[in-house]
Order: sequence, then C-alpha cells, then structure tokens
Amino acid sequence: MALVIRRSKIHADGVYATAPIKRKHIVVEYTGPRLTNDQADAIYGHSPRTYLFGLTDGEHVIDGDNIAAFINHSCDPNCEADEIDGRVFIRAIRNIATGEELSYDYNLYDGDPDDPAPCYCQARHCRGTLFADRKRAKAQGTSKTGKQRTR
Ligand SMILES: [Zn+2]
Repeated sequence: MALVIRRSKIHADGVYATAPIKRKHIVVEYTGPRLTNDQADAIYGHSPRTYLFGLTDGEHVIDGDNIAAFINHSCDPNCEADEIDGRVFIRAIRNIATGEELSYDYNLYDGDPDDPAPCYCQARHCRGTLFADRKRAKAQGTSKTGKQRTR
C-alpha cells in the first residue's frame, strides 16, 4: 500500500498517500487484536493514548497495530471506515492525490466526559470535537471509541 506516516498538519503524526488513490478503493485494513470492552478497559483504562476502534456489535474493539491506527480524524474527511464481517477497512470516499493526508470521521462515542476531544481539522464545517453528534453515530455505525484520545 502506498502510505507513509509523517508529521501531520492536523495533529501529531498522520498518514499520507504516496500515490493517487481512487474513490471507493480500500486504502488499508484497520488490523489488530480483538478485545472485549472489558479487556480494553482493563488494559487501557488509564492510558492517555490508545488506538481502539469500536465494532458495531458494541462489545468488541480492535486494538490497532498498523498504519491505519495513525490516520487522523477530520470533519471533512477523504476516507470512511467500513466494517465488513467484523473487519474494518478504510476506504477512499473521493479521489485522493499523492501527498494528501488521509482522514476519516472518528464519530467518537463513549468518551471521558471531562475530555472534550477537541478537533483541529480546520475544515470549514468543523464541529470542534471528535465526538459524533448522536444521529450521525447511529446512522454510520462504525466509530472509534472514546478511549481513543487525540494524539
Ligand atoms: Zn474538525
């Protein structure tokens, strides 16, 4: 896959395309061990940064272990996360040019209420937080868990 991790304009490190990616193409799978929510809480309950991705069953998360875990959130993303049979794929939702940073909407839920998870994506319609508004989270299904803090 034609991806590289670089310092991000959005936040910390991000993932960049090193070749053009066509709309609807799968960019990368979000891989990693499957944990139950309880296991994840036990391991990461006090951890300031995690790479957990909540599955639609509401009971399991993927503990990200590859480059996909470094993709930043944006309120105006060029990718989406697509869950298929318990696996999560990051898919381009428009054509992406070489050198563009990849992003998708985290639709965070279930976070620490004291952590506003501010968004720095600078999109024109940035909602100012990584948290989903409720309607959107329901409609979309897949999302990062609130345990995923900004990096
Ligand atoms: Zn934003």
